[in-house]
Amino acid sequence: MQLHKIETGNLKLDGGAMFGVVPKTIWEKSYPADENNLCNWSMRCLLVVDGDRKILIDNGIGDKQDEKFLKHYHLNGDDSLDKSLSALGYSRDDITDMVLTHLHFDHCGGSIIKTGEDQFETAFKNATYWISKDQWEWAINPNHREKASFLKENILPIEASGQLKLVENEGELFPGFHVKFYSGHTDGQMIPFVNYNGKTIVFTADLLPSIAHVPIPYVMAYDTQPLLTLKEKEAFFKEVIENEFVIFLEHDLYNECCTLEYTEKGPRVKETFKLETI
Ligand SMILES: [Zn+2]
Repeated sequence: MQLHKIETGNLKLDGGAMFGVVPKTIWEKSYPADENNLCNWSMRCLLVVDGDRKILIDNGIGDKQDEKFLKHYHLNGDDSLDKSLSALGYSRDDITDMVLTHLHFDHCGGSIIKTGEDQFETAFKNATYWISKDQWEWAINPNHREKASFLKENILPIEASGQLKLVENEGELFPGFHVKFYSGHTDGQMIPFVNYNGKTIVFTADLLPSIAHVPIPYVMAYDTQPLLTLKEKEAFFKEVIENEFVIFLEHDLYNECCTLEYTEKGPRVKETFKLETI
């Protein structure tokens, strides 16, 4: 099995929204903000190559949104989904399985391409799209709080294509690849755990966006059930520390991977490193 990071570009989001109730005077020591209080975040996906099977976890924001939408997100960086795949010698057609942690636009926008006025098609023609059943049902009937993050053009064409596969239970999706559900951020966020070179790599998505979010109270204001996130983080960190799991970070512009340890202040980062060093 081989793992490759797939950088799809960066977006800027309000620092206050990203750190919830933590005041800026405190969080800005661990993640920088610009003069507009915006922080820069990667949309770093993970490609798992196992023989003929090529599994992509999340796919970034895509390229079909209009200027009006994108002006809020200040896309930046030189990377794109297609460029990163092609640098490894792959194209979208090589992907056999598209695993989506959840359906917020910065995680699944690359799933779909625009082929005409109000016409959309799946971008990965040969892939099965795996989404948790809870997240799917949550996203197709969005609440007012998350409505701006669930774009119907990112979601409904997947079902129309016949490529959708809903995941009802936690467990193994593929050999050496299992998923667990965490619902504090959004219902049924599906987190992949991949066995690789004798270690377990966890793609933490929005359960842990960056190393700056490791202290337990650092929870995004976007989370729909922040008290549940607190409980989920505590239980997840215990599992990570006891089993020496490696965390792969989707949104941390400055760090790809980390491990954790307990300190007298609670769980903290032990080491940061690049995926290629594992
Ligand atoms: Zn999200």
